[in-house]
Amino acid sequence: MEVLQEAVGQEALTARLFERADAGTLAHAMLFTGPPGRGGLALALALARRLHCTSPQGGGACGVCPACQQHAQFQHPDLHFTFPVIKAPGKDKALSADQLGTWRALLREVGPHFDMADLRERMALGNKQPFISVHEAADILRRLSLTAHAGGWKVQIIWGAHAMRTDTANKLLKVIEEPPAKTVFILMADSTENLLATILSRTQIVPVPPVEPAGVQQWLAGMQAQPDKVSDAVALCEGDLAKARRLVSEDAAGEFAMFVDWMRTNFARDGRKATAMADAFHDLGREDQKQFLAFALHMVRQCIVGNYGAAGAVKLRASERSFAEKFAPYIHHGNVVEMQAELEKAARDVTGNVYGRTVFLDLSMKMMELLHRAR
Ligand SMILES: [Zn+2]
Repeated sequence: MEVLQEAVGQEALTARLFERADAGTLAHAMLFTGPPGRGGLALALALARRLHCTSPQGGGACGVCPACQQHAQFQHPDLHFTFPVIKAPGKDKALSADQLGTWRALLREVGPHFDMADLRERMALGNKQPFISVHEAADILRRLSLTAHAGGWKVQIIWGAHAMRTDTANKLLKVIEEPPAKTVFILMADSTENLLATILSRTQIVPVPPVEPAGVQQWLAGMQAQPDKVSDAVALCEGDLAKARRLVSEDAAGEFAMFVDWMRTNFARDGRKATAMADAFHDLGREDQKQFLAFALHMVRQCIVGNYGAAGAVKLRASERSFAEKFAPYIHHGNVVEMQAELEKAARDVTGNVYGRTVFLDLSMKMMELLHRAR
């Protein structure tokens, strides 16, 4: 039952799709919804392998037949991948085919539980927005018009389907509505938002639920991470394994220490130190500045959740909780709206290339005032 292990935490959904495949009632076009880290791709791969396996056993693929071996390398000739890309250097069209090596390397090295942030990093996109072009749609139509190599099922996966341009989606409407015989479309998107109604009406929507905490825990156990990081990740990842993996591997301690220091400085109205800190923030560079501001916004929001909502709803690491308990009383209805607006404005200014030192010094001055405001 190797296959079921791959679709971590989605065993029930996997079993249901396998049953439909066996009964011949599998929809020819499905849309898996949910963040990629929940395992939509793992599920799609398991289903494709099940369809291609020549001697399925006990509900799963056998793992040893030639088809299963091709699947192990993500190289089965009737398994097609489409995902958002930008034009490769020297090419005039943006095609997934030009990035398949990167895609397969990511699958091999990280496994199927990755998200757009992971793929962006692999493809070294910088600030460019990847998309699924109309040329990709033409490529899909061409591939699917060919006879299946093994005379069996053709599986077309469209990962990040929300990145399809309108002309791309329109070009695919007909084939999604009436695919060639023995062809399955599996589209994947975070949600049904940003997809054309005409696409939605032609697909069976299959919501992929969050992975249960026990499933996340079990999956992380294979990573040899520190136990406190694992328990934080289980609590904070929202059933998303891509997030969980980042939570155990990233070092958030630096950011948190900086936030504590900065807020203490602002509370003490220490102008000299605030100036020195603005210089330090400036030197971090734009991406780290944005990340720090996002973290600060997250901390402020969690304080408000702690003050006015259920304690269980607070999403903080164990190490952050004791500070947050002491800091939270200074965040209240009298200042939280403005505080969030100021942090968001600072993030926009950083994105818009405003001088970092100025952004952070202004922000500190605002925080000094807001932290002392009456409830
Ligand atoms: Zn097999």
